[in-house]
Formats: sequence, structure tokens, C-alpha cells
Amino acid sequence: MVDSRRLSMIVLTIVAIFVAVNAFAYNADEALMLLKEGNARFFAMKTEHLNINAERRMDTAINGQKPFAVVLACSDSRVPVEAIFDRGIGDIFVVRVAGNIAIDPSVIGSVEYGVRHLNSPLLVVMGHTNCGAVNASISGPPLEGDVRAIQKNIEIVAARVKKDHPALNGDSLESEVVKENILQAKKDILAGSGEIRRAAGEGKLKIVPAVYDLKTGAVKWLLE
Ligand SMILES: [Zn+2]
Repeated sequence: MVDSRRLSMIVLTIVAIFVAVNAFAYNADEALMLLKEGNARFFAMKTEHLNINAERRMDTAINGQKPFAVVLACSDSRVPVEAIFDRGIGDIFVVRVAGNIAIDPSVIGSVEYGVRHLNSPLLVVMGHTNCGAVNASISGPPLEGDVRAIQKNIEIVAARVKKDHPALNGDSLESEVVKENILQAKKDILAGSGEIRRAAGEGKLKIVPAVYDLKTGAVKWLLE
């Protein structure tokens, strides 16, 4: 039998743990602010390398991860997500795929895991300037092998942009396709995952599209 004193100690301990865990949870706006602040430091080359240390590594290894944001981005080696936002271990649940497209169930499932199981309140769908996958889909010849599947997917977006904006060409066409491809990925995530739709519908998830500029290091936030 557990006596009442011991029982109340157990309850108090559980409450204390609950409060401690949730004290470090951010809402979507706070999470977005952390990313904006981190990118401002990266842009200015005044990075602080937050949460990249032995204590953080050990803490997250033992106590698990609680990333404040999920980011879907391109695999391009010039788009290192944690560096761009000046964040470290356990901060961002990153899903990267060439062209930042969200067709494959394992991509959508990865995003869903970060949102529903790790309870991240913010999902950023981030494309970037001068994306090889986007450029190949605007004007390139058909690519070989499995890369063709990525190109085909973005070709549909590029064809739609050309039809809707016949006056665009060169850089202006490219930047519009980059933007539309990001918005398409957001739509595909919502269409492909009932769990993410539900989280967004319940107000537990904010989805923010963004474009990363390879030259300046700045992240431009869309549709705010
Ligand atoms: Zn890219």
C-alpha cells in the first residue's frame, strides 16, 4: 500500500517534471522568432553556435529531443539548415530532399514525425535561390535516372508558372518557380498527411514558407 504522504510526493514530483518539461516548450511565434534571430546572426556573421557543446549533447542523448521547429529544405550543400539559423543539437528537426519537394511518403512521414511525435509547433518549408533542381525543371533537358522523378515534379510547377506569368523570364521566372515550388510542397504536405492537417487545424502547428538566399545568407519569410 502506498500511504497518502508518499502518494502526494509522487504526484508533486510528476507535476514538477511536467512543469519543468513544458517550461522549455515554445509556441509557434516564439519558435519563429528564434529562427529569425538566429538567421540575423548568421547574416551578420555574428554566430553564437548555440547548443553546440558537450552538455547539450549529453542532455539530449539522455533526455531526448524536443526540437522547436521542423524544417523541410533542399539537400543542396550550400543550405546547411542549423548553420543558417545558428542553432545546435536538438533544436531543429531537419528534413532535406533535392528540390525540397514533398511527394515521397517518407519525406511527408519525416515531417509528420517532427510535428506529431516531437510536438514541434512550427514547420518551415524552405526553398532557396539558384536551386539546381528548379533550374533543371525550367529549361534543362530530361535528367537521367531517378533524378528525373524530382525534375518531373518541379516541371509541373514550372509549366504552371510559365502559363500564369508569360512575361516572366530569366531570374524573375526562376524566383517565381522557386516560390511556387515551396507553396506546392506545403500543399503536398497538407494533402499527404491527415495528422499534419489536424495539427494545423487545431492551431497546434504554424506552417511558414521561406526562401533562403545563397548569396546573402538571408532567409526571406513568405506570406506573413
Ligand atoms: Zn536546391
